[in-house]
Amino acid sequence: MNIKGKITAFIVILAASTVVESCSSTLPNIGEVKEEVVNYYSSGKYGTELNNVIDNAIAKFDNVEAAYNSLVVFDIDETALSNYSFDEGIDFGFVPGLWEQWIDSAKVPAIDGVKRLYEFLIKKGFKVVFVTGRSEHNYTPTYKNLLYAGYTIFDTLIVRSASEKKLTALEYKSKKRVELTKKGYNIVGDIGDQYSDLEGPYHGIRVKIPNYTYIIR
Ligand SMILES: [Mg+2]
Repeated sequence: MNIKGKITAFIVILAASTVVESCSSTLPNIGEVKEEVVNYYSSGKYGTELNNVIDNAIAKFDNVEAAYNSLVVFDIDETALSNYSFDEGIDFGFVPGLWEQWIDSAKVPAIDGVKRLYEFLIKKGFKVVFVTGRSEHNYTPTYKNLLYAGYTIFDTLIVRSASEKKLTALEYKSKKRVELTKKGYNIVGDIGDQYSDLEGPYHGIRVKIPNYTYIIR
């Protein structure tokens, strides 16, 4: 090959190795985001963040006197119970049939830090009610699951009725807290992994449990 041929070959190789791409978008890639979230949970950083939240919550509730009607409202999914292993197992997202099977198993594990807070509150004399966005047909396995996970003392488990399906999570959770207050409870605390668990009336001390796997509004 003469010198001209070599230059031509060099230009052809250079052109073939050039990547044409846009540099204007800052949109994250789902694959990378999932990897980052999985690392956060598996490295122990999630557990550290959670325990800090729980320690701060216990310090706050420690200053509250428990009366006969003092109530703390707990959400269930990603608050009392952890669906993380299920979510990671399906590479995140939502598959209705598999989700129902998972709930029906009634073997969803507790989030240990949240159970520590629950046990502290029960010991201090607060009443507990669980309010979940799960449906009426999920009531029995959910009830069994709470007992299985160690949440053995509570006044009521409230699930979403068919007529409440049209409500947003924020509207539904707020409605239930209003109903509980009208029944005579004084809500002194509200524990949830979504801001829709914590906004609205009658929340008392709000405890936001970290959740990086989904958002419910
Ligand atoms: Mg939740």
